[in-house]
Amino acid sequence: MATQRNVSLLIDNILLYPDPYLRVAMPEADDLMTLLTAGFLLEASKEAIGIIVGLSSTQMSKLGRVITVIDNDEWHVLMNPVVLQRSDEHTLLVEGCASLPNIFAAVNRPDVIVVKYRDPDFNFKAIQLEDEVARIVLHEIDHLDGILITDYGMRLKKVANLDESSQEDFVVLQEQLFSEEILSSYLVPNPSDATESDPTA
Ligand SMILES: [Zn+2]
Repeated sequence: MATQRNVSLLIDNILLYPDPYLRVAMPEADDLMTLLTAGFLLEASKEAIGIIVGLSSTQMSKLGRVITVIDNDEWHVLMNPVVLQRSDEHTLLVEGCASLPNIFAAVNRPDVIVVKYRDPDFNFKAIQLEDEVARIVLHEIDHLDGILITDYGMRLKKVANLDESSQEDFVVLQEQLFSEEILSSYLVPNPSDATESDPTA
């Protein structure tokens, strides 16, 4: 999940839509490859702090079901994450994605989730996550299943020239679009087949 357009360093290797690998559902594995992927993702995430807030193995063309998420300026790596519980309360919020530059979509997600995963020592853990962190984790787990934010059917019109915009601009944009009334004026029908061939249409 991205906070802005400009990416750098290891993140330069991130797959961009419509790369078909972004549609691959990653199989679960508890092997050395997953651990290597975890190390790579953590390194890439640390280099991109302030640019991204989460990352998935799918986006970096790596094997294994691994995601990273930032929480209180600290990166966490989750191997084989599985959502055990989702709250009934949901919030509709605009999301961006480093694999979909300049594309934003409104996604309705549960406010609270419980996720089990393996940490880099292969220990099982289960944690309750709320609000933004829960949203990021769900966004990244979607990547592991080949799901993109545009699949939720509430894609926003292309936002003009975000290349120059700062993270602050994105936050302002996010707050403006948070209003459902304003949001509805930005929504466009999600083109089904056309989406695959032309993400900027
Ligand atoms: Zn994403």
